Amino acid sequence: MPPERATALFPRFSALTPADLAVEGHTHTDFTDGLAPPRAYADRAVSLGLSRLAFTEHIRRTSTYWPRFAHEAANLRRVGGPRIWVGFEAKVCDGEGTLDIPDAAYAAADVVLGSVHAVPGAQGSRPPRALPREELALAERDFGLALVRGGRAQVLAHAGGMSLALYGDFPLDYMDALARECAGADVAFEVNARYHAPVLTRLLPLLARYDPRVSLGSDAHEPSQVGAIGALLRPLLFPDAPNSPARAAT
Ligand SMILES: [Zn+2]
Ligand SMILES: [Zn+2]
Repeated sequence: MPPERATALFPRFSALTPADLAVEGHTHTDFTDGLAPPRAYADRAVSLGLSRLAFTEHIRRTSTYWPRFAHEAANLRRVGGPRIWVGFEAKVCDGEGTLDIPDAAYAAADVVLGSVHAVPGAQGSRPPRALPREELALAERDFGLALVRGGRAQVLAHAGGMSLALYGDFPLDYMDALARECAGADVAFEVNARYHAPVLTRLLPLLARYDPRVSLGSDAHEPSQVGAIGALLRPLLFPDAPNSPARAAT
């Protein structure tokens, strides 16, 4: 079974409720570059009362680790705990939106995040830091659009993230184009705590304008980062909710 479509998995931005923030949609464990085994992330999600935890491990077509990971993560499903999604984060490989993931892993996943990481090119892919600022931003926009149009991933992960991390900036009209494209497609736009925190006040109005489906992810590389996205968004989206840290501080 290929993964369910974003339509079935994610609410539109305008439909988000405070309860929808109690999820974690983007994590990496010690199966790749995270710091702890899947169980530690699940324990953290339980302690925070999250309703859903997605394991979204890095993967490539050549990866062989993933059946062990999928088995271990799926074994964390327990009655009363968060709903566990076993998934992957795969980079886009070309202008058609092809993802760097084995077919069997794609078919086995509950959710697949698509990302622009290394930048595809005629001479092979290049690391983001090999591209100057304007070229990287353009590549993130165009390969991000290709990823959405390709329709293989349910989620466009951390739009503009490489530019934001390396150069501290991603043009707002590029972010606008990606949010608009997601809204018209069956692909969720990820709000990512790790990359989008500095630009949230500019990003949220775009999401309000185009109203794409949204996935909320912390890009957690250690258990303490699980749930960070909800803590970040709660005071911005629901300042009057009873469990808001902003409210608690007043
Ligand atoms: Zn990523
Ligand atoms: Zn990631």
